Amino acid sequence: MNLPTFLGGVHPPEGKALTENKAIEILRPEDSREFVYPLALHIGAPCSPIVKKGDTVLAGQKIADTDAFVSAPKYSAVSGTVKAIEPRMAFTGAMEPSIVIESDGQYTPAPTLHDILGHKPQPSEYVKMIRESGLVGLGGACFPTHVKLSPPKDKTINHIIINAAECEPFLNCDNRLMLECPDEIIRGLEFVLEVFTEAEGVIAIESNKPEAIATMTEHCKNPRIRVMPVKVKYPQGAEKMLILSVTGKEVPLVPALPADVGCIVLNTRTVWQIWDAIENGRPVLERVVTVTGDAIADPKNVQVPLGLSMRELINFCGGFKDEPVKIISGGPMMGISMRSIDVPVVKGTSGILALTKNLAYLAEESACIRCGKCVEACPMHLNPTFLDHAVRKRDYATFEAFNGMNCIECGCCSYICPASRFLTQTCKEGKAAVNAARRKAAAQAKQKQEAK
Ligand code: SF4
Ligand code: SF4
Repeated sequence: MNLPTFLGGVHPPEGKALTENKAIEILRPEDSREFVYPLALHIGAPCSPIVKKGDTVLAGQKIADTDAFVSAPKYSAVSGTVKAIEPRMAFTGAMEPSIVIESDGQYTPAPTLHDILGHKPQPSEYVKMIRESGLVGLGGACFPTHVKLSPPKDKTINHIIINAAECEPFLNCDNRLMLECPDEIIRGLEFVLEVFTEAEGVIAIESNKPEAIATMTEHCKNPRIRVMPVKVKYPQGAEKMLILSVTGKEVPLVPALPADVGCIVLNTRTVWQIWDAIENGRPVLERVVTVTGDAIADPKNVQVPLGLSMRELINFCGGFKDEPVKIISGGPMMGISMRSIDVPVVKGTSGILALTKNLAYLAEESACIRCGKCVEACPMHLNPTFLDHAVRKRDYATFEAFNGMNCIECGCCSYICPASRFLTQTCKEGKAAVNAARRKAAAQAKQKQEAK
């Protein structure tokens, strides 16, 4: 069957079999332990603590917030005491200011968001409630959801697309959620469609999940929603690729946004969480994580409270049966290699992948042989080898001129390169350097303005 797809992309081994038939298990430690909440946000302004050392907190109590629009508050998933506010290591390896809570194992609940609002929200209050719930894109990008749901007034939204592709190898958290909680996902999408009354809802699922396609189709009775199988190809779940597959429309280059082509794309768990916030008034306190890889004794899909140490989650899955040479937060294509597993599970932790030397990719770089495979594979139609040269020469003007800022960091170029060039890595470095230069220029302009 000719299923909708995009140009470019790759077909890495799926690795899904390890956990695709494992029902979600719940890990909820009932003895006292540390939970850590970094104040930084992957995309957006960091929060400031609204608790202090020694304070008692309840499960579901807000502990950090900010006035910045592009940000989202943080909540404690546990009841206990604030032990410290200090730098702790995050999954990126960076030391980040964090709130450390010593749990009491009781999970004594805080008032719900409905209690605080005084009633169950009306559609006009949904986006505010979603912001208040601390919701960010739970596929890993962590972009605040209320910002996505607040497109410019002159944009008409025609499609709310649920990104249920889960194209990252090894991960199954969205797949299992569709099998186990289809009604909640559909209800979450219906809440969004109450806000965007002219839009249709599309649940886009890669065709390698026939059970999820059948389950969602069977449960979906709303004529404004359809389930759409899409071709298995990485990175089908990247926002721009999925929009192209579903609508045939190409999102223009940055700074254009999905709303420019009438689309909003939301991850599966994000929509489940929208249901939980609107229906139950619950902020984001937990998430499902796929713990997998050939080094893990008993790979599983586990629902865990945010802030729990990844080490404890790995121990819950039987620990390591063989020595891992690489441990990744996320999937093998877009995930980040970790230096330590003594770091907390955060909103964007979709998976923990521990690989032995049999599966880990630890090749040495060699010279480019000009085969052009990276150009063919790039779904954004960039020239990765050219961008790589520019970044290595620190020629960021050329990097920008050749649209390097449009790189979605999908990893296709590095995956396909026979010379094992670190193409994705250099693109990431190029983007970081350009963004840092832009921030510096903006700060200098502000200083000059203030000095006048
Ligand atoms: S250049 Fe960027 S967008 Fe293109 S394949 Fe490489 S990582 Fe993906
Ligand atoms: S795939 Fe690798 S070897 Fe081939 S052109 Fe691109 S960088 Fe060079």
